[in-house]
Amino acid sequence: MKVLIADQINEKGIDELKDIADVVVQTDITPEELVSSIPDYDAIVVRSRTKVTREVIEASQKLKIIARAGVGVDNVDVEAATEKGIMVVNAPESTSITVAEHTMGIILSLARKISIADKSVKEGKWEKSKFMGSELAGKTLGVIGMGRIGSQVVKRCKAFDMKILVNDPYITEEVASRLGATIVERDTLFEEADVITIHVPLTPETKHSIGKAEFALMKDTACIINCARGGIINEEDLYQALSEGAIGGAGLDVFEKEPPEGNPLLALDNLVATPHIGASTREAQRDAAIIVAKEIKEVLTGGTARNVLNMPVIDPETLILIKPYFELMTKLGRFLIQTAQGNIKEIDVTYCGELAEFPKLDILTRMILQEILNPILTEPVNLVNAMAVAENRGITVIEGKRCEVHGFDSLIRVEMKSDKNDMVIEGVSTKEPKIVLINGYKVDVETEGHLLISSYKDIPGVIGIIGTKLGEHEINIAKMQVGRQEPGGEAVMVLKIDSTVPENVLDELKELENVYDAVVVNL
Ligand code: NAD
Repeated sequence: MKVLIADQINEKGIDELKDIADVVVQTDITPEELVSSIPDYDAIVVRSRTKVTREVIEASQKLKIIARAGVGVDNVDVEAATEKGIMVVNAPESTSITVAEHTMGIILSLARKISIADKSVKEGKWEKSKFMGSELAGKTLGVIGMGRIGSQVVKRCKAFDMKILVNDPYITEEVASRLGATIVERDTLFEEADVITIHVPLTPETKHSIGKAEFALMKDTACIINCARGGIINEEDLYQALSEGAIGGAGLDVFEKEPPEGNPLLALDNLVATPHIGASTREAQRDAAIIVAKEIKEVLTGGTARNVLNMPVIDPETLILIKPYFELMTKLGRFLIQTAQGNIKEIDVTYCGELAEFPKLDILTRMILQEILNPILTEPVNLVNAMAVAENRGITVIEGKRCEVHGFDSLIRVEMKSDKNDMVIEGVSTKEPKIVLINGYKVDVETEGHLLISSYKDIPGVIGIIGTKLGEHEINIAKMQVGRQEPGGEAVMVLKIDSTVPENVLDELKELENVYDAVVVNL
């Protein structure tokens, strides 16, 4: 077997592979040479220099695995690899400790004013009284996002005798308490923490999620650190908070525009800045090389890899049977993640009717998990790793067969339990995928466009005031359905609307008399 090392990686990774394969190290290989030599190789290892393009993938003849010794896979055409049944693996966990340690460095630098004291001493000054610091012991750390890196920061801050508060809507109490952390609401975290550290991915939900309103809640001595991605903190609002003394300090390894040329934040003494070096250590590079070498070894000797980023190959006969349900599963997953509240604990998927007899139903379950987990995690969740990711996050996944099909040939029922709400939906894939039940209410909802789902008291006039409120904001209703358990009790209304409902309008709807809740789902 032959493995090509196309970019410079740590020797330990190369050694790991030598006993199972003929390892060729050619770290100056050109794109043309790569296309002509790739047919000889069973595996290729790259970092970020080498581009594994569609042309390279299509020229390959026995390639089984493409390994990225690091995290991002922008330089690999994952789609082309998937089409050819070639696995793409990476080493997402290789940088967690490194980034966590960098975060600790920034926290300590802020608490003890190390970087500005260093600058002052080197300028020939000796300003002892200017650099009065504060201890971390006994202080409160607020962690936003407790995934791989956030968890490592928590462990280290526990050793500094800090009290740990966490806000991460997608982890369970059990996962948090195992690390000695307490899950709290966002506002509580901002109000109570002395040090706030961000470890969430940059998503539409997290973009500019920390700004004026959050700084207003924070203590005037509090520090905030972002070693995640630029753009999560609103930099203009941060500048204002730091320059007005609304907060004590900030530490940034990442900026909205990198390098941050001309950024006024850089002129502030209470800002510690580093040039996106959170993941840059020799150890992280060594670990990435060892991790991917072990993955290659597993795959080339008939085992399975852990960090696979693309789909497994499904045999054509199974594919014909289950393919009509792919879109339904995607839509059910999207519906659930947008209606979920609190920490997800359990997802039960039940296949009913004729579908219950089909093989490989776990692929459909994985498809739902992928839709639920992808919007909240940094690394791509796919059909291969979906179950493992759910398990790592303390989410129980239960697959069942047989339930009432209500006259349809086949039906899929999904129940998602969290510590704040339980959602049960049922869907069918007839001509188009449809949702036919939401929390006990029979509906007939197309899984397209924007939906507004409101629960309200079943008395005259409530439907009208919801419609009027939408009208005031020029949101047109295309279709309406209502369901209720008993007259005068709680009822549910599903509106198909022509445009989404902005956050402020949703808040106004929730404040209407006799309206219990309102949620928008964009499918
Ligand atoms: P992860 O996927 O393991 O964890 C992310 C966590 O954020 C998850 O627990 C998720 O539930 C949580 N989350 C998602 N949306 C949230 C929200 N709105 N509010 C609160 N929590 C939310 O990711 P990770 O590997 O720990 O990476 C964390 C961040 O660090 C990412 O932004 C990543 O890109 C960044 N990173 C930076 C560097 C660097 O060089 N500075 C290096 C590696 C990773």
